[in-house]
Amino acid sequence: MTDMIDPFGRAITYLRISVTDRCDFRCVYCMAEDMTFLPKADLLSLEELERLAGAFVDLGVRKLRLTGGEPLVRRGVMALINRLGQRIGQGLDELTLTTNGSQLGRFADELVAAGVKRVNVSIDTLDEEKFRTITRWGRLPQVIDGVMAAKAAGLRVKVNAVALKGVNEDEFDAMLDWCGRHGFDFCLIETMPLGEVDQDRTDQYLPLSTVRQRLAARWTLTPTDYVTGGPARYFDVAETGTRLGFITPLTHNFCEGCNRVRLTCTGTLYMCLGQDDAADLRAVLRGSDDDAVLRQAILDAIARKPKGHDFVIDRAGQAPAVARHMSVTGG
Ligand code: SAM
Ligand code: SF4
Repeated sequence: MTDMIDPFGRAITYLRISVTDRCDFRCVYCMAEDMTFLPKADLLSLEELERLAGAFVDLGVRKLRLTGGEPLVRRGVMALINRLGQRIGQGLDELTLTTNGSQLGRFADELVAAGVKRVNVSIDTLDEEKFRTITRWGRLPQVIDGVMAAKAAGLRVKVNAVALKGVNEDEFDAMLDWCGRHGFDFCLIETMPLGEVDQDRTDQYLPLSTVRQRLAARWTLTPTDYVTGGPARYFDVAETGTRLGFITPLTHNFCEGCNRVRLTCTGTLYMCLGQDDAADLRAVLRGSDDDAVLRQAILDAIARKPKGHDFVIDRAGQAPAVARHMSVTGG
């Protein structure tokens, strides 16, 4: 049982940790090309991240997801993953990560050895040119090699794609087919108005209700109650035997069942992806060696978890709902 019940009766059992705000890609919807990253001194050390994650597990978090920025570009991150992996079965059910896949070729085997069983890999397109345009710095073959290394190592892979109007919307059929052939679940995500990027999001926004209708013309989609602890709604795809998921923060209010909070690499805890209220756990962490103090600070923060976000993307040129980028909060 978790000690963390928020004011709306939701049990908090899932913590997402952004281990770095840096990345080897510069996806157009996520970052500006000339991002200013946090000074290293502001970052929690790997030991501090471990202590903080441990406090959450002690309080009842059962699922940890490492994200970023790109989690696998943080130096020494495998040491953290190994240490956290030792908590699996000791309160923790699952340790997983969301990655752009560029480093999976190097790390897939080590991840499995650390106890990681599945990974989410973000791939918005299977077209090399388009991939370069979307990620600015990424190379698709390296990512595909990484995904195949993950598969070979025995990791279950879910491919996540942000649905971008006029960019990758003609590819979802082919991507679902490709994922199905490799045994990967496929999940589409609506763009969210997080942080200033170099382009207007009204142009990119594609409601997934439309996409689902289009996909249903070719694939037999049956709604399932499969849940992974995240906000996706899943359908079984009869033709592939895999699942198709939709994360629709804008067309469907996904806040009701929210069971998660997000920790940044500087120790700031955000109780909601779409709200600004946050708790500075770094100050608490550095101010006391007593984990009881830390646990109390976490409980105080959970007591302030808001009911939900108020994302809207309906006016051109509108400011983002929150100023921080997804690479800060960790998606
Ligand atoms: N670098 C890793 C990756 O790309 O998977 C982990 C961090 S990334 C911020 C996590 C997820 O957030 C990715 O799937 C990415 O596509 C998604 N994302 C980033 N900015 C977004 C936005 N504004 N709206 C919706 N999804 C976004
Ligand atoms: Fe990097 Fe992931 Fe953001 Fe792309 S979405 S820039 S890979 S953090």
